[in-house]
Amino acid sequence: MFTQDFKEHPYWWDRSAPPTEQNIELPKKVDVLIIGAGYTGLHAAIQTARGSRNTLVIDAEHAGWGCSTRNGGQVSTSIKPSFSELEATHGKDMAFAIHREGEKSLHFTGDFIREECLDCSYAEVGRFHAAHNTAQYEKLARAVEDQVSGFEDGAYMVPRSEQRSELGTDIYFGGAIYPQHASVDPAAYHKGLLGKAHEAGAVIISYCAAENINRDKNGFSVKTSKGIVQADKVIIATNGYTGSLTPRLQRRVIPIGSYVVATEPLANDLMDQLMPKNRIVSDTRKVVYYYRPSPDRSRIIFGGRVSIGETNPRLSGPKLQHSLSQIFPELENTKISHSWMGYVAFTFDSLMHVGEEDGLYYAMGYCGSGVGMAGYLGMKLGQQVLGLEGGQTIFNEIKFQTRPLYAGKPWFLAPSLMYYRFIDSLNI
Ligand SMILES: Cc1cc2nc3c(=O)[nH]c(=O)nc-3n(C[C@H](O)[C@H](O)[C@H](O)COP(=O)(O)OP(=O)(O)OC[C@H]3O[C@@H](n4cnc5c(N)ncnc54)[C@H](O)[C@@H]3O)c2cc1C
Repeated sequence: MFTQDFKEHPYWWDRSAPPTEQNIELPKKVDVLIIGAGYTGLHAAIQTARGSRNTLVIDAEHAGWGCSTRNGGQVSTSIKPSFSELEATHGKDMAFAIHREGEKSLHFTGDFIREECLDCSYAEVGRFHAAHNTAQYEKLARAVEDQVSGFEDGAYMVPRSEQRSELGTDIYFGGAIYPQHASVDPAAYHKGLLGKAHEAGAVIISYCAAENINRDKNGFSVKTSKGIVQADKVIIATNGYTGSLTPRLQRRVIPIGSYVVATEPLANDLMDQLMPKNRIVSDTRKVVYYYRPSPDRSRIIFGGRVSIGETNPRLSGPKLQHSLSQIFPELENTKISHSWMGYVAFTFDSLMHVGEEDGLYYAMGYCGSGVGMAGYLGMKLGQQVLGLEGGQTIFNEIKFQTRPLYAGKPWFLAPSLMYYRFIDSLNI
């Protein structure tokens, strides 16, 4: 089941090892303190440091330890609700604005990586979104047919009879291609951002947890595990790892574990048969699987949710391998070389949120689709801190909801997952 050199950490860390701890003294005072050194925090830091603000980024673990080096590396527009769902709750203009931000986040990510010459295997490979039954194929086809004017993204349908030109399986009922979606090596992207933040003059300190934030007449006094730092402005960039440091935000994000494996290297011709076009792949199940080839096309990186409660990567690995071999029976005896997990941050309205209260800024709640959006909203936050008009985003205007009795522990997760599994099993 596991290779001899099996690793219980992200496959991506083999190419981009976590940064080693450096003995950097905590500054006494900064203009901007950013808590969380993932895509959100680093993109914010690049803006504020380039804008000549004295910028400090801290992370409770090593920089990038959170989702930003653990994800599947699938880059999309990140907006989960459909246009019509958003229109029903927020009205047409708002629905437009939200989808427009999604598009911008996708283009921003590709442009940034190209313009800043980040070496992170970014490629516009397109997504195959596979239908797990005929009803879902027809639903996808209607969505592709009825694309809202101004949001035509070149999506098209691939019927089941032609599916093998996209994916070497008969398990699905066809699917939709979204040609603009991309793949990236997430940890190499993060490493590139770390370099850019350093170059811009930001100080980044790992293993430095923020423990308490106090407002005072000079801004903020933040107690960390390495001492106290004074900051004019503070950015919270903790997403799925948002904790009791910010109880108000903790009540608004729902941390849910997502699990990933990498297979051992596959023969070239087998990879060509299974994933001939190098697409990123997802499916229409409620409890979704997402997968793709590794950047060198040697392995399949396969992610999803395999248990009702949270589990550990040694247990989730074999279960994901089993699900993978149901899609590709050729992989029944293929071993797993890496298995890992991370916490995504869902929200009650399935949208990401950005806000500011007297100098305390935040962006979070990417609902498992933040590779593009986290960096984009981090950049926006950085611009807001600089007081730039362009920093405003529609996500500043949407109420960040919570629910009665919710304090940060998703007690409703198990029943919800059971319900979603049940719906998937009904095949509707
Ligand atoms: C397994 C998995 C697969 C995913 N796959 C995809 C995908 O394919 N496509 C996609 O678009 N999105 C995907 N995502 C989501 C995406 O990775 C995230 O939305 C994105 O990385 C969020 O970045 P971030 O910087 O906001 O948060 P993170 O990268 O999670 O960073 C938050 C950081 O805050 C730190 N922190 C928390 N509390 C404190 C504190 N008190 N003091 C100091 N530091 C603190 C944490 O240590 C952490 O490093 C996936 C996520 C997971 C977990």
